[in-house]
Amino acid sequence: MNCDNIGNECACTYSSCANHAKCCECLRYHRSKGELPGCYFPKEAEKTYNRSIAYFVDLYNSGKI
Ligand code: SF4
Repeated sequence: MNCDNIGNECACTYSSCANHAKCCECLRYHRSKGELPGCYFPKEAEKTYNRSIAYFVDLYNSGKI
């Protein structure tokens, strides 16, 4: 499967990550850990680097997503 680098469109602020802007690798990595990619989270929440599904659900349930 071709997984092109999306460059500047990547919303993740953890820019030193080897998977930065490589959506397929990013998704594969976080899925393997039971997490979601940074781009699923609102801007301020993304900066916490907490990618857990529990955190995402908390944000959703509190109306922040
Ligand atoms: S969301 Fe995770 S894997 Fe994806 S670029 Fe950011 S730190 Fe890397």
